[in-house]
Amino acid sequence: MARPDGLSDGGAAVAGAEIPGDAAAELVEIVGALRRADAADGHEGERARVLAGLLEHPRIEVELQTVVRGRPNAIARVRGSGDGPGLLLDGHFNAGYHPGPWSGDPCDPWVRDGRLFGGAVTDMLGGLAAMVLALRALADCDPAPPGDVVLLAGMHEDTIGLGTKAALASRDGWPAYGICGDPTNLGILTAHGGAVKFAVELTGKAAHITRAEEGADALSAAAALAQALPRHAFRHVPDPALPDLPRTVVGRLDAGFAAGVVAPSAILQGDVRTVPGMTPASVLADVERCAAETVAPEVGVAVRALFDQRPLPGPAPDPLVAAISAAHRAVRGSDPEVGSALPGQAYCTEAADMAAFGIGSVVYGPSDWRYVPDESVAVADLLDAARVYAATALLLDGDRPQKPSR
Ligand SMILES: [Zn+2]
Repeated sequence: MARPDGLSDGGAAVAGAEIPGDAAAELVEIVGALRRADAADGHEGERARVLAGLLEHPRIEVELQTVVRGRPNAIARVRGSGDGPGLLLDGHFNAGYHPGPWSGDPCDPWVRDGRLFGGAVTDMLGGLAAMVLALRALADCDPAPPGDVVLLAGMHEDTIGLGTKAALASRDGWPAYGICGDPTNLGILTAHGGAVKFAVELTGKAAHITRAEEGADALSAAAALAQALPRHAFRHVPDPALPDLPRTVVGRLDAGFAAGVVAPSAILQGDVRTVPGMTPASVLADVERCAAETVAPEVGVAVRALFDQRPLPGPAPDPLVAAISAAHRAVRGSDPEVGSALPGQAYCTEAADMAAFGIGSVVYGPSDWRYVPDESVAVADLLDAARVYAATALLLDGDRPQKPSR
């Protein structure tokens, strides 16, 4: 059994699934092909078909799994030589980006000074391309990896991870370990919070400035609530792995209709990043409690959930962290950061769904998380991510761990 604890094992694994430096051009091409596959309806379905084409290989089994009509997942598998634990590489190909202004065409990525620029190259077309490259290298490996390696490229990730949830629920037979490739700057994110996004509708009564006393001011009530919520004590049991959570942001407020009229309505939207044990029901009840303490009784309050995602509670499985660390050391010459510091602690990723499904998972991906015009990622980091993914798959040898109950 391989002992993934040293540079020598890592080095052998990196050499076993060789990804040479000149694969950089290939990588840039993959990102470009994925980015340019924008469907006229704005959905990501076309990108799944392009992805399937990029994975054509005699030893890669590719399937498009319809989740919503015209919007499939792409699932690709390289069979292992034995019944090793295997590795699930999880990414997503819905790929929104900042509206700009950009200095080039965000839909046609370009390279400058060793960095690849383009819409959603950080989250996460770059990481997805690295996974494609890794899977191709693993398909060429002789002998094959010890266990199956599966690339699950999901549609519609947006907070809820719909594509990954649908795929995991559709069948069994997934690998025992998983890496979600969302951006961590090539650190190993071992735990993160969940999220509950919510809306509060406030209903008052319109009154012209001449009779303002007859109105009920929904705007002022919403503003007071927006200030109170981030300081509100959401009920929770503190989690040592997630010491900065829960945290709350109210990011949107729409209210009123005229400068000289007391606002009869307001809608506020916020987001709570949660620790394990907090649920959409508990968060909404806390928002209601905060509103009851803050909002004048003449203003009506209705609270509802918009989206939610579960946390990745950790702890991360040791064999997976050891394998990624050994691969990372061999590729980068230093240890990766391991842990759950901010900002990663407040991310939402599908690693949470994978873990809930019994797949021991962490997040490890190239680049920082940046939703900005001219977002970019170092091409060298994309190549290194591909090398680490491939080598990790080769290092995960031995028995499958007991699958925990869901
Ligand atoms: Zn993402």
